[in-house]
Amino acid sequence: MKGIIAVSGKAYADICLIRETIVYTEPVHADDPEAETERLNASSGITDGELSVLADSLRDGGREEQADILEFQRMLLLDDNYFGKILGIVRDEQVIAEYAVSKCSAEYREELLALDNEYLNERAADIKDIEQRLLKNLNRNGEEKKTASSMIAVAVDLTPSEVVELSHRDLKGIILEKGGLSSHCVILARSFGIPCMVGVTGATEELSHAGKVLLDAVEGRIIADPSDEEVTAYHEYVQQAAGEREALEAFKHMRTETADHRKMGVYANITSPEETAALLDNGGEGVGLLRTEMLYMERSSAPSVDAQYKVYEEIARGLEGRPLILRTLDVGGDKKIAYLGIGEEENPFLGYRAIRYCLEHEEIFRAQIEAALRASASGNVKIMLPMISTITEFRKAKTLIEDVREKLVASGVSDIPKASVGMMVETPAAALMADRFAKEADFFSIGTNDLTQYTFAADRNNEKVAHLNSCFEPALLRSVSNICKQAAKNGIEVDICGQAGEVDELIPLWVGMGVDNLSVSIPSITRVRRTISRCDYKKCKELVDEILDLSTQDEVREVLRKERGEW
Ligand code: PEP
Ligand code: MG
Repeated sequence: MKGIIAVSGKAYADICLIRETIVYTEPVHADDPEAETERLNASSGITDGELSVLADSLRDGGREEQADILEFQRMLLLDDNYFGKILGIVRDEQVIAEYAVSKCSAEYREELLALDNEYLNERAADIKDIEQRLLKNLNRNGEEKKTASSMIAVAVDLTPSEVVELSHRDLKGIILEKGGLSSHCVILARSFGIPCMVGVTGATEELSHAGKVLLDAVEGRIIADPSDEEVTAYHEYVQQAAGEREALEAFKHMRTETADHRKMGVYANITSPEETAALLDNGGEGVGLLRTEMLYMERSSAPSVDAQYKVYEEIARGLEGRPLILRTLDVGGDKKIAYLGIGEEENPFLGYRAIRYCLEHEEIFRAQIEAALRASASGNVKIMLPMISTITEFRKAKTLIEDVREKLVASGVSDIPKASVGMMVETPAAALMADRFAKEADFFSIGTNDLTQYTFAADRNNEKVAHLNSCFEPALLRSVSNICKQAAKNGIEVDICGQAGEVDELIPLWVGMGVDNLSVSIPSITRVRRTISRCDYKKCKELVDEILDLSTQDEVREVLRKERGEW
């Protein structure tokens, strides 16, 4: 079986098949209601186990509030008004388990929403959550036995929150039928250092009868139940990779500079406080992108100011003065958060996403800004706005941020200085107006994942257009080059926090274009620093001139390949 390499590496483990859930809205007759009851009880057992593990790990990470939500969901499994009622529907109406779960959940949700009690209204989202879990686990027949050990997840597609959840278990690899190279699922896999292949057509069907699988995301192959020789070759690879990691150790705490001593920085992209220690351990010089939306996932209502403050403060303090670039909520696109009520959209990546949503939901935006500003007392916190496409949006957001700050100061919370407010440059509109934005923003961070998808009008999650979604295309390189030029002209820093920042072949171009910092996944920090150290700034500038004159990505790749050969 073949596919597209999304996160390079190899893994060999049991298969954990994750099937898509089907929601039945019409009754489906069950020939054997007793068997359905057994399926329900098994699903409830697996669900309870999952929630318990997840709640423990959240508690260990200091996220008490989120853990309590999961405990509430566990209680529903013992509740006669919920799980008891589901069993009753199967018995009395002689229907399949899936229908009973959906019917009972829909009724329970409606009852909660009809109450004049905000807390209970919000619990409706918990019912949605537990319904999803019960449905998913109804189809897992005995898989838990396999997933107790290390595993490779095989699915048509996974949501970002599913990846976060799986990462709490011993997840060694991910194989997806769908998915583009910069989907958020892939981004998370990269930050957890989990090898991943996408676009593997027919994987769930073909692997459904295999026990173990060898995921070779180096050669781009997937081997079900590999032979002894293939397993031996895999173990040799593991040893060699350990050797490579050891060689990179020397670059952990080295100053980041080119061979001709131009100073740069290597930051990391993170999603939670638990990653701060790993970042420091790997020699990260700061957080170039905190994807705060992950904090809004895995829960059924928006986090309070205090809950957010706790998380941001912990990261800021842990970084001991190093920069923390906190990106405000980038919900929408492929990051769906049910309780925020964005709803179904025909083109979610072109829709109600990130700053567009936040500017119309001031209460959500203000709460996040308040938490970020309060956390800035504990470190070097900068605020970054995602998906900006017009100057008007940027100004509105900046005004709101300043208003929140003034109110905080007036209320005597503390004397918070003006925030440094930068922006992601990730829409073609922002790239084209970089000269104007550079006069208003305190810094730029180029989101090459989105900038590429929007420049080429090619969905970043669609494997069929993955060839268009390439940072080697001259159009994208010209755009990045212009953004860097405008940043330099106006004396502001420019970083890259999209995945292209850690592509080895492209790093000489980022150096030559004058990028200040590359924000990359934690496992890549040392490799990126080593690559920068091999670059000569002056030569890289010449290389940029040569590259910007080319017409195709093949030509770009060819020149960069030759360049690498000279190192
Ligand atoms: C990007 O678009 O490059 C980026 C870093 O943001 P995200 O991947 O979260 O959209
Ligand atoms: Mg983006």
